[in-house]
Amino acid sequence: MTVLTNARIYTLDAAGSIADTLVVRDGRVAYAGRRGDVSVPAGERVLDLGGRAVLPGLVDAHGHLMYLARGRLTLDVGGFTSEEAIASRVGETAATVAPGGWISGRGWDQNLWPGAQFPTRASLDRAAPRHPVALVRIDGHATWVNSAALREGDITRQTADPTGGIVVKDAVGEPTGLLIDTAQRLVQRAEPMPPEERFDQAVREAIAECLAAGLTGLHEMGVTLFAIAAYRRLVERGQFPFRNSAAVAARSEETWDYYRERGPEIIGDGQIVVRAFKLLSDGALGSRGAALHSPYCDDPDNRGLLLIPPEELERLTVEAMARGFQVCVHAIGDRANTLTLDTIERAMARLPGEARASRPRVEHAQILAESDIPRFRALGVLPSMQATHCTSDMAWAVDRLGPERLKGAYAWRSLLDTGVTIAGGSDFPVENPNPFHGIYASVARRPRNGDDRGWQPEQRMTREEAVQSFTAWNAHASHQEADLGSLAPGKRADLIVCSDDVFACPEERIAEIHPLLTMIGGEVVHQRREDWPCAEAG
Ligand SMILES: [Zn+2]
Repeated sequence: MTVLTNARIYTLDAAGSIADTLVVRDGRVAYAGRRGDVSVPAGERVLDLGGRAVLPGLVDAHGHLMYLARGRLTLDVGGFTSEEAIASRVGETAATVAPGGWISGRGWDQNLWPGAQFPTRASLDRAAPRHPVALVRIDGHATWVNSAALREGDITRQTADPTGGIVVKDAVGEPTGLLIDTAQRLVQRAEPMPPEERFDQAVREAIAECLAAGLTGLHEMGVTLFAIAAYRRLVERGQFPFRNSAAVAARSEETWDYYRERGPEIIGDGQIVVRAFKLLSDGALGSRGAALHSPYCDDPDNRGLLLIPPEELERLTVEAMARGFQVCVHAIGDRANTLTLDTIERAMARLPGEARASRPRVEHAQILAESDIPRFRALGVLPSMQATHCTSDMAWAVDRLGPERLKGAYAWRSLLDTGVTIAGGSDFPVENPNPFHGIYASVARRPRNGDDRGWQPEQRMTREEAVQSFTAWNAHASHQEADLGSLAPGKRADLIVCSDDVFACPEERIAEIHPLLTMIGGEVVHQRREDWPCAEAG
């Protein structure tokens, strides 16, 4: 038994109770209430929290642990402000890798460069002519490669665009080195996977990064057998102090073949639950792959990309729902969202009971036609949204969409007002995994850099809503509300002791909050001793 006391414990239970003492037994909350109402036998562990605020563990409803881990083994090309700067970084790396060895990386964003033009193979060919180079865009929806990587992927001027992808070609029909959406797979399948031991270690480091930011779990939107095998090894060795409610990546056919036969799976003591299925209906806004009803304002011949034919989306949705999987469909553009809601509606008509019970989700739900906003509630579909995408994209989203379509963009308040709840996340590593950045963006709808331009302030969430969107609403969105999402007795003791009180601190300080101590299932899995004055009282 462990007793946490002298704290301001936001239990987020149905009544919104605030307790000063929490008793943890066998990994679960045994009691939440007043210190005076509980007797603690001598010799039990008592933690005096010095008046600190405690929250249920924060969960990211849309993150990519395997990509966060992979990023630790590859080149980080985030934050660079020109194509040439990245190419010269690649050149430095090439000097340390034997010729023929792959140079993989992630994080570039042409919106940060002068002119915001997409890069080409020419700069990478100059920097690393003898190494295949593949650099994934920050959002994962485009890959920039050199000529050596094009050769490894057998990509030539004859290569046709795959369904849902573009092999970008120049005026004379040569591939430029930019592969959009599903075309990335042509190179990905030639790229070697990291050795198991290195990947396992990278997963451990990625989990440590998430814990240090205040997360106790995530919903991983798209996992492969390679990643699940690593997670399973770590669970078996007691090295997976985290919760992952994982969705099988539809694009990995071997993974879906395996789970379609096997059905949902729980690994360990609930650390990993594989019970969802992730599909992509379109691309992303940054690479102009989001499928729009009307053309892009800054690319008038382009309405974006559907990554999957609508009949195929419906077939897979029905198949997954019938096998007990929750369907999570990535939809960013308004056309993709309409089509996804139409598909789910038809699937529900074919499988009414199971489908409704499965709480289908739309991942991102980023740009919505006004007429689609009430359909989420009407169909029982959950929007899963990333508040930091809004504050990261606001500088250029208006160029892509124009002012009229922005009314349905990142429309949290419009959705909440229909009676739905929003599963909150970050889409890390696209954004930082820090959940307090997401809570701040939800509440302030302003970037963290001190830029004071609030954006569509009428769409802001309250602090209560923002915290629910990383706790209780996420537990509901993963069918885990019996175990997670609040600190009511009986729930798992997943919690964080916070450096500041998210409900009481000045708004601009929300994004700076960090956990001083994190518990998962009653075990301390992260602790910052240097700035934590709280003492073990006996
Ligand atoms: Zn994602």
